[in-house]
Amino acid sequence: MPTLHSAITVCSLTLLLFAPRSHAVTRDEVIAGAEVMYRARVTEAQSQYQLDNDQVFLARVQRIAAGLIAQAKLDHPVANEFAWELHVIDDPDESASCMAGGKLLIGKPYVNKLELTDAELAMLLSHEIQHAALEHNFKEFQEALKLEPVRQKSSFLELEEAIDHDETLISELSEFNKAQESEADLEGMRMAWRAGWPALKLVGYFKKLVRTDSMTSFDHRDHPASARRWQAARQLADELNRIKAPGD
Ligand SMILES: [Zn+2]
Repeated sequence: MPTLHSAITVCSLTLLLFAPRSHAVTRDEVIAGAEVMYRARVTEAQSQYQLDNDQVFLARVQRIAAGLIAQAKLDHPVANEFAWELHVIDDPDESASCMAGGKLLIGKPYVNKLELTDAELAMLLSHEIQHAALEHNFKEFQEALKLEPVRQKSSFLELEEAIDHDETLISELSEFNKAQESEADLEGMRMAWRAGWPALKLVGYFKKLVRTDSMTSFDHRDHPASARRWQAARQLADELNRIKAPGD
């Protein structure tokens, strides 16, 4: 059940998000917007008994994520400012996500379907953690305002709604978002490798994506084609293997 404190926090965040704006979007707005959305998703999942049910699985994900978040804090000063949070969810439609400010949600059916090893799960988590550490949400909002400057007059929530649901804006942002996905793949692999995971084992995640994808050569709306992601990951793993592994 939400505490009074969290209810007041959400109310004050919501007031901030509804306020009229006449300026570029700020990091604080994006993180506050993500907090409201994440809290709603977590509360909904909890009410449907879909949240953090499997303590063994939750502990496994938390253990792997902890090492990666520690590495992200070393690599990206901004990651030290986030209130990182992780939940697992039983919803079969949920794969994995990380909202601005370090709010992770990992779908247990997705991880089970792909039969991810610990290294492959580390790759998935590292990809998601990169989205927060590289402030991809914030950059997407900035890009949206660059594409459609008139939206600077919208409230933050109107802009957020447009980024998620306005078909024209979504297709205008498609290439930008695919580039962010590729960046999360490659920077995620580099970070997991720095955190001690063997590069070749991380590649296994992309191989499994290809195995479960019926259109491996075609780009998805927000993701590059899975065959292309696997190829880029194999190439990076070869490069990393030529470098002395950290701690060796
Ligand atoms: Zn992603």
